[in-house]
Amino acid sequence: MNKPVDMLDVVIIGGGLVGGLTALLLAKGGIQATVLDAAPILDTEKVLSVANPRVLALSQATIHLLKTVNVWDKLARQMPYTGMQVWNKNGYGEINFGQASQKMPSDEQSLGSMVEPSILNLAIQQQMLQQVQDYRTQVKVVRVEQGVHCWIVQLADGTTLKTKLVIGADGANSFVREQAMIELDVLDYQQAGLSCAIRTAMPHQYVARQIFLPTGPLAFLPMASLNAEQAEHWISIVWTLPDDYADEYSALNDAQFMQLLTRESHHMLGEVLEVTPRAKFPLKARAAQRYVKAGLALIGDAAHVIHPLAGQGVNIGCLDAAVLCDVLLKDKQRGVWAHEQTLKRYEHQRKGQNDAMMHSMSALGFIETSELFPFVWARNFGLKQVENQATLKALFLAQANGLSSLKQTQYAI
Ligand SMILES: Cc1cc2nc3c(=O)[nH]c(=O)nc-3n(C[C@H](O)[C@H](O)[C@H](O)COP(=O)(O)OP(=O)(O)OC[C@H]3O[C@@H](n4cnc5c(N)ncnc54)[C@H](O)[C@@H]3O)c2cc1C
Repeated sequence: MNKPVDMLDVVIIGGGLVGGLTALLLAKGGIQATVLDAAPILDTEKVLSVANPRVLALSQATIHLLKTVNVWDKLARQMPYTGMQVWNKNGYGEINFGQASQKMPSDEQSLGSMVEPSILNLAIQQQMLQQVQDYRTQVKVVRVEQGVHCWIVQLADGTTLKTKLVIGADGANSFVREQAMIELDVLDYQQAGLSCAIRTAMPHQYVARQIFLPTGPLAFLPMASLNAEQAEHWISIVWTLPDDYADEYSALNDAQFMQLLTRESHHMLGEVLEVTPRAKFPLKARAAQRYVKAGLALIGDAAHVIHPLAGQGVNIGCLDAAVLCDVLLKDKQRGVWAHEQTLKRYEHQRKGQNDAMMHSMSALGFIETSELFPFVWARNFGLKQVENQATLKALFLAQANGLSSLKQTQYAI
């Protein structure tokens, strides 16, 4: 006779950046989730010895949440930035936020921080191994099915789990979303992003820069260096291009590409001296038509993928995690767990905001897209107008740092 299956409080499918943060916030609030992730535990030595050419621009709200679950101090490297500068090659404006810095700024002085995804993933995994009792990696979920007042999750090894709540944090191609039959809206920008790390002759001085070229925006984002002597000279670039340009630039050899970059960036950091292999990725926005169903919630990229170059993807995912954990933990104190109304409160607080950000990215047009939300925001209002108005700049900073979205939650600063 088959052993009866225990009813779990919550199963999180996907233990990446957003799913991992959710599990850690719940653990801090006294709820142990079962976390199922398809990926293996990262090899620490390998992750630390290779610089990831892509960086995530983490907002102050995300940094605060990572501090709350003791992940922030475990990051092996990160690069804070104190200034942002954006201008148009064709000369209709420039905007500056914060200022350049001559030495490594403290957390308090910075506007945010650039972190390699693998470094962040490693720190989250390590913390989950300590804090989450049932964290399973290299797990293949083959079925997610609604039962009577529960969800049934089947794994490829034959295991069946029964849970009151499924949290789908399994990324852009979410299997949970598909199994729950939640429809998806997709917008293909017909552009590609070109990304790599470069070493420049001049130091970045902790400033994130972006130049609008006729082909699309080119962002220079400061990143941590593996070599102390080259600190402040390594940059992660993200170049948004129409598909045909992206193909052409990908095919150039390194010397040709470095020359092109030096020229197109107007020598803003002098000559480009070194370049790592380039990665090209298509740009698409996706939005789930709903985030919740009875006993099920989608968070992070499973719920929404905004223009990847907006630089806000993981930040809005972390805000999803915070709001969902906040409503769940508050109700738990009242003796309620994962009620449909609780989940709807989460959807109500997050979907409108996320959709609005996604639409503002799309409204900018397919060519003039940006690497960082601050830049997008600034261009929306007109670079000159924003540059000249202290109140608009302050409004922008409040919106970009994400802290206002935490205000009503137990994670408010
Ligand atoms: C080129 C590029 C640049 C970007 N730059 C930025 C930036 O500067 N700032 C920013 O905030 N965001 C940025 N983003 C977006 C950011 O990377 C994502 O928003 C973020 O990784 C989403 O986190 P997530 O946890 O929702 O999904 P993911 O990080 O994709 O994690 C999903 C997890 O689910 C697991 N999984 C998947 N399927 C299954 C399954 N069936 N069963 C079990 N587990 C499963 C995976 O193993 C993975 O661990 C960028 C994205 C791209 C592509």
